[in-house]
Amino acid sequence: MILLKNVFLNGNVCDILIDGNKIAKIADKLSTVTDEIVDCSDKAILPSFCNTHTHASMMFLRGIGEDKNLFDWLKQDIFPREAKLKPEHIYPLSRYAILEMIKTGTTCFTDMYFYVPETLRAVQNMGIRAVLPYLGMDFFDDKKTESSIQQAIQHLKEPSRNLKIKKAICCHSVYTCSQRLIQEFSNLAKKYDAYLQIHVSETQKEVDDCVQKYGCRPVELLYKWGFMGPKTFFAHAVHLNDDEIELVKKTGTVLGHCPTSNLKLGSGQMPLQKYLNAGLKVTLGTDGVSSNNSLSMISEMKVAALSAKNKADSVLAATVDDAFRMATQNGFEAFGINAGEIKEGNLADFILVDMNNQFLLPNNNLKSNMIYAADSSCITDVFCDGIPVMRDRKIPHEAEIISDFKQVCSDLS
Ligand SMILES: [Zn+2]
Repeated sequence: MILLKNVFLNGNVCDILIDGNKIAKIADKLSTVTDEIVDCSDKAILPSFCNTHTHASMMFLRGIGEDKNLFDWLKQDIFPREAKLKPEHIYPLSRYAILEMIKTGTTCFTDMYFYVPETLRAVQNMGIRAVLPYLGMDFFDDKKTESSIQQAIQHLKEPSRNLKIKKAICCHSVYTCSQRLIQEFSNLAKKYDAYLQIHVSETQKEVDDCVQKYGCRPVELLYKWGFMGPKTFFAHAVHLNDDEIELVKKTGTVLGHCPTSNLKLGSGQMPLQKYLNAGLKVTLGTDGVSSNNSLSMISEMKVAALSAKNKADSVLAATVDDAFRMATQNGFEAFGINAGEIKEGNLADFILVDMNNQFLLPNNNLKSNMIYAADSSCITDVFCDGIPVMRDRKIPHEAEIISDFKQVCSDLS
């Protein structure tokens, strides 16, 4: 048991008892005998972040192929470099990504990449949560379709040894995956009760190409192919028409909004407020660092709020509470994880922030400060499942993680 003494929560100073992996009690004063008492004077507690769309191992591609649109960037810069990747590169790349996630307050992410067992090993080593899907991408080649299906089955059948890691499968997109692959993955997800993910309607070109090839838009196509539902995550979903918004709502499909990546690759701006008004479930993701170029959910909240206000031409779009909820509660909830709010009975996934940090003063509105002023230097401690994964900004083995990452970058250059 850990007792947090004198911590600032929702405008009051209180004590919080962490028992096992849960927030057990919140009260003005607690005097329970515990293993550890943490003096949190001048610190505030907030829920940690849930990043619902990223590609952790793309860390080595930060700063590559700048100022290009999605399709040129993928074909000219990303796919050729990814072809050099070997399984042994993934563990150090993922560990380095998780280091950045923890430093910026994230305790759960969902990935979309190759060599999942290596990422899984990195997640276990760093002690956070993840939803790790097997990635299907067959480029319409029948042999690749078959092997992807077999590997997805293998991945789903593998017994889960870590409760903090959830099973999933994903298809890259409708422009890289065949009908058979997408339909088989839909069936497998239902059979194994697994999460599904796909990039959807990221650019207008993707929508136009889909209409030309299949006679309907990407969301309509995925609906026909049975891919949608409350366990399905659509990454991006920038360009949806009213009928598609209805399909997303009807099926309870979750959107993973990646505003920085969309702006940076010139993919367009999601009409976030329109989606929120329609009652869609919107969560927040950074996408890979190759198109962001960071994994910070703090800056993602700011970009989400500002781009929504710009798109709607209204200051009322994407309020402070909307932006903060998308980065925390909405993501955890969509993954069925009881976190994202500081309340009794919830899992103890949280961050402590330094109320004397220059970006958090004056404390007129902590959430607003976190969205519009803060950077990662405000976060002093990060807990996941009741266990500290960062203390006083220190993460175990940090020097080794950085040195291993630098070695992989030089191997891949
Ligand atoms: Zn992506």
